[in-house]
Amino acid sequence: MKTIVTVVTVLCVSLLATVRAGAEEADLVLQNGVIWTVDDERPRAEAIASLRDRIVYVGTNRGVREYISEETRVIDLDGKLVVPGFNDNHVHFESTGRLLYGLNLLDVSDERGFADRIREVHERYSPGTWITGGDWSAYETWAEGDVAEAGREVNPDDLYGNLFLPNKGMVDGFTGDRPVLARRFDRKVYLANSAALEIAGIRKGSPDPAGIAVERDSNGEPTGALFNPVSGAVESTVLVQDNVRALFDPLIPEPSRRQRIQETRRTWDQMKRVGVTSYSDVTSAPIQVDVYRELREKGQMTARVRYRPPLDQWESLANLGIRVGFGDEWIRFGAVKAWIDGIMGNSSARFYEPYTHNPSSRGIWRDIMFPFERSPDNPEDMQSRLERLALQADAAGLQLTVHAIGDEANGYLMDMLERIIEKNGERDRRFRLVHAQVMTDRDIERAGAMNIVAEVQPFHVSDDMRWMEERIGRDRSRGAYAFRRLWDAGAVVCFGSDSPGTNASRYYLNPMLGLYAAVTRKTLSGQPEGGWFPQEKLTVEEAIKAYTLNTAYAAYEEDIKGSITVGKLADFVILSDNLLTMNPDNIKDVKVLTTVVGGKVVYEGG
Ligand SMILES: [Zn+2]
Repeated sequence: MKTIVTVVTVLCVSLLATVRAGAEEADLVLQNGVIWTVDDERPRAEAIASLRDRIVYVGTNRGVREYISEETRVIDLDGKLVVPGFNDNHVHFESTGRLLYGLNLLDVSDERGFADRIREVHERYSPGTWITGGDWSAYETWAEGDVAEAGREVNPDDLYGNLFLPNKGMVDGFTGDRPVLARRFDRKVYLANSAALEIAGIRKGSPDPAGIAVERDSNGEPTGALFNPVSGAVESTVLVQDNVRALFDPLIPEPSRRQRIQETRRTWDQMKRVGVTSYSDVTSAPIQVDVYRELREKGQMTARVRYRPPLDQWESLANLGIRVGFGDEWIRFGAVKAWIDGIMGNSSARFYEPYTHNPSSRGIWRDIMFPFERSPDNPEDMQSRLERLALQADAAGLQLTVHAIGDEANGYLMDMLERIIEKNGERDRRFRLVHAQVMTDRDIERAGAMNIVAEVQPFHVSDDMRWMEERIGRDRSRGAYAFRRLWDAGAVVCFGSDSPGTNASRYYLNPMLGLYAAVTRKTLSGQPEGGWFPQEKLTVEEAIKAYTLNTAYAAYEEDIKGSITVGKLADFVILSDNLLTMNPDNIKDVKVLTTVVGGKVVYEGG
């Protein structure tokens, strides 16, 4: 009898335990919303519950009730849209932080703005830190969102353009012994204050440093303006030899730890505001990883990072046992990166045929392509240094990510990938073609057949279409940012920002700009009507997936993030408008109301 009682008791206890587990209390519940989960099994829901850092329930308002206890924070969504947290596939984190926390002069082209902005940074920075960069006069040349005259001819008598020219007197009064080296957006001209001139030894009576023209007043006193040598015939191919930077670089100390921490916090702050909960850091110095570690230990990290060292360091990673997936949910490694050609901004991307506006150039290959040598396993076979490194890194279990803009650069990578597959065998390698900007029809098909990941940043469409056809013609432009065809061919199209943008345009991390560009293919000012090569548009549902689940897949993390699914990390955002039903022309203005990372509300906007 005693045995029976025990059995019954055990049964009752375990039954209770089951019921309790099913009705687990949650820390956080969101209800009465439109939840777009990006999970094909259950695309829509009304409510979500999370416990600690994981999602424990996705379903109906009724079903979520049993997760609510007195301690649960309940957010009434009032019909608002919730989507998974955005995952940015390509962030220049360090430069984004430097610009957000430091000097931004893109929209400045007068004395007042110049002095005011530098004063703000002067008050923010610790004593002794150099104020650098800024890129003044960018919008004087390229009105934001407008169609620019990028292919215009340069007046050979005035290669520097008739733009705003500052002098040291505008800032010396308040900067004191803090050095300032501001830059014009095109790097043709810099402005040094007296403290910076003194450090570089540029004084009244001193000879000009080699390759730099020092502007002087009638007394021979340097005004602070420093001119680089410039040559070129067309605005978009003007070559600048940046001697000023070469002179000053060794004189400017590395940013302090304190400065890096401030810049990191400032960038995460921006990420929270725009709903970015994960990102790939593609170019920061290795010290940045230690800053991440410190802030993470302090519980201050609010976005998850995947850090990518350069390909030519693959061996030290492999020797440490680092492979795809190394790390944890906050800081992870496993991919390496390389660049093989230039960019469209100065027409240095590599093409099969010459540029339309500059028939003497097909663009450039980056240094990593050289030397071309005989392959170690086949003397008939000539191989780039890139390919040798890529073969080894791939064999060591690292993920390859390579920047390619021009059609020849992309084509070369497709050829190379075929050879890597042949030599190292088939596996789940998720080769990331970074930018995949201009591709031939054949390469789009090959990219699909090899299931590559197209690591694209759709806002480039809005930005670049303004001058793309002038530079490469209508026919080649058809293969530019061909998201629809890449998607349909079988490539995994994933999205990001390329923050902080270019010298001519800044777009700090905001995923709404990318979604807008992918769905409308228009500039910020809404041109052209109907969109540029509108056959390449994605639907808004696809665009959201590209910015969430597909970026998670690109980083081998689709099992833990990228959709609102039970068991995954509780990373999601509440938006001001319903992306799924609104006029796509207004997507660029949608705001993030709330950002949740790992079940914690990290941002609540006004
Ligand atoms: Zn980039």
